[in-house]
Amino acid sequence: MNMLPNRLHSLFSLIRHPYLEREEIVSFQDRQLRRVVTHAYENVPYYRRLFDREGLKPQDIRSVDDLSAIPITSKSDLQMLHARELVSRRANLERLIVLRTGGSTGKPMVVRRTWAEERLLQAFRWRAMHYYGQRSTDHIARISFIEETHPRDYQLVRRSIQTLGLYKWTNIDCRFPLRDILRKVQDVNPDILKSYPGVVHRLSHLLQEHDKKPICPRFVVVGGEVLTPLMREHVREAFRVPVFNIYGSYESNVLAWECKETGELHTCDDCTIVEVLKNGTPTKEGEQGEVVVTNLHSFAMPFIRYRLDDIVTRGTDTCKCGQPFSTIRNIQGRVMDYFLLPGGRLIHPWELSYLIDIASWIREYRLIQEREDRIVSQIVPRDNAPEEEIKKIESFVKERVGASVEFRIELVPEIQCEPNGKFRVFRSHVTSD
Ligand SMILES: [Zn+2]
Repeated sequence: MNMLPNRLHSLFSLIRHPYLEREEIVSFQDRQLRRVVTHAYENVPYYRRLFDREGLKPQDIRSVDDLSAIPITSKSDLQMLHARELVSRRANLERLIVLRTGGSTGKPMVVRRTWAEERLLQAFRWRAMHYYGQRSTDHIARISFIEETHPRDYQLVRRSIQTLGLYKWTNIDCRFPLRDILRKVQDVNPDILKSYPGVVHRLSHLLQEHDKKPICPRFVVVGGEVLTPLMREHVREAFRVPVFNIYGSYESNVLAWECKETGELHTCDDCTIVEVLKNGTPTKEGEQGEVVVTNLHSFAMPFIRYRLDDIVTRGTDTCKCGQPFSTIRNIQGRVMDYFLLPGGRLIHPWELSYLIDIASWIREYRLIQEREDRIVSQIVPRDNAPEEEIKKIESFVKERVGASVEFRIELVPEIQCEPNGKFRVFRSHVTSD
């Protein structure tokens, strides 16, 4: 199969899709799904075995409604397999771009793509950025964990465009001391600032404290970790510009981008089929569930009904702003962030942090489950911590976790981030590490 016409068609259609009717997006999904499933069955040993085991044939999967017939694949199903089992026999393994998921998830996963696939997935990110108002003449400062570009990931197109002075960007390593990061961002004076929520959040405090030379981007884009309401509020206050959240993963690139009008996230329906499942069945609007993805443009290494280990709240079938995409109301975080309480009860720390998130005296916080029966909240206060407020938070949390779990608040001068520069708001020593 010659993929090039298909790629070019996808590239043009992604520009058109925001203006189409919902039905047209769904029929695009169905068409691409049939292509991916047929290709995977014919060319990828792992999927051939999976389908044969279930007595499934590609022709059984005609539309998104048929997806549930395919068993869900977990990270652990793929991690132990040789690349040849997962990569299409039509792809040249040596020529693929290799991406390794970050170590902070505990389970690194290797993802492979062709150069063209990588560019196509980046184009979906570009579409989201343009929706927020990015112009070709803008300069972006991106503060992130800088990894070496894979040797097969030729940057020819990007370099050519940048030679023309367009789509300029400056990468800044998020592991640098915060003051150095701030200085570099001030030097660049970017039109757009992009980073992890934790980094931008800390930067916003530093900016306010020291009356520094202001940074005046038109908007801030965050992604890659949990953005709590408290973080969003502080960043918005410090920069006085809108903050937009893009939800993505190594396996799929952009999964959803925040709607400017409703605050929900537009699911990238024309790139990935995102299912939100609870005990294997689709959730209703407003319900939380696990994310299972099917990539519509990954042929070198297909991902079909692949569990991402993320928890989100499902939104509407079509966004209220008029765009034809379905929505995700909220991103709670990763499955591994769940706290496992005595008696086997699972609670997402998101449910415990509500009062902390709206408290104006709190600058930064983290919730840690140290043991099954002990949860600690480290809090960095802005100045004085009011005794009454602390008591209120304590009784709010205790009510939710039960009497068998000890909860206490620790006031600390600062909270260290992870070695890779990321900031984990929630951490359970019981369910992860
Ligand atoms: Zn919308």
